[in-house]
Amino acid sequence: MYSRSVEAPLDRSTIWAYENGEPGEFYYARHAHPTAAAAERELGELDGGEALLFASGTAATTAVVLGLLQPGSTVALARDAYYGTGVTFTELERWGLRHVLFDQTGPPPAQADLVWIEAPSNPLLTMPDFAAAAAHAAPVLCDATAATPIHLRPLEHGCDLVLHSATKYLAGHHDALLGVVVCGRSQDAERLREFRTRTGSIASPDAAWLLGRGLKTLAIRVERQTATAQELASRLQAHPRVSAVRYPGFGGMLSFDVADGATARAVETSTRVIVNATSLGGVDSTLETRHRWEPERVPEGLLRLSVGLEPVESLWQDIESALA
Ligand code: PLP
Repeated sequence: MYSRSVEAPLDRSTIWAYENGEPGEFYYARHAHPTAAAAERELGELDGGEALLFASGTAATTAVVLGLLQPGSTVALARDAYYGTGVTFTELERWGLRHVLFDQTGPPPAQADLVWIEAPSNPLLTMPDFAAAAAHAAPVLCDATAATPIHLRPLEHGCDLVLHSATKYLAGHHDALLGVVVCGRSQDAERLREFRTRTGSIASPDAAWLLGRGLKTLAIRVERQTATAQELASRLQAHPRVSAVRYPGFGGMLSFDVADGATARAVETSTRVIVNATSLGGVDSTLETRHRWEPERVPEGLLRLSVGLEPVESLWQDIESALA
């Protein structure tokens, strides 16, 4: 006989026995499984809506547009949004999806069936005008990956859907690929759940379990990352080799510019504490030039820094010596 376990169990089953000859809440893992359901309950509470877990942030993005829109629909996409979101929409053009770019600090274009904003945007760190987006007739989705529900609950600002790459802060340790959509309206949640079952894009139990574990420390991680990022942003601002710092004042992601591409490359390959790698939101700090991925909109000298949990002084020493 064991005492009650402290950790939620990880159930890797793909099937569960019927109850009195009928499928219960869990019967086949492509539809729902207990580990995802536990994480979804927590995510729903954090954002104040109904959460659905996907195999990645990109799988969540795909499900929203294919599941909730029609062929010929137009998404008004914030120009500054994560570049991969536009790449996904371009990929889906041959299935009849259209998108138009707009400046999210102002109102979205009138002709749109879905408004897609990002708070703050990756890696340009602009914030959307929530009132202007909410005034649009179409539903509004906010990608709040970088803000996290600790700093922002978009459903309270007039949005209908929230999307997170849970790969980043929510899971938080660079070891689980996940996405989540939080719906303010139960009909959207129902439609997306059906679409997810039919297209097979639910998160795996192992990844969902790591997310549940990460959520236990989300607030404490994000608060510390914000405090460190605030300090680093102000020191970078005063550094003679840094020409611009983009930071909205909260969260663990910032970007800054050095003179040119060669200097940025020298900086990213010289850090010893900060890992030269892509992605963001983990306990280990990461830094990379973004021009390699999105050359058409990002200056060659732009470096994106995701602040982890290392002591602020060791991060600053690392950045200072890399800049030198
Ligand atoms: N949204 C934002 C803001 C991101 O930064 C990313 C990935 O970098 C995604 C969505 C896509 O998430 P994933 O990599 O989990 O598919």
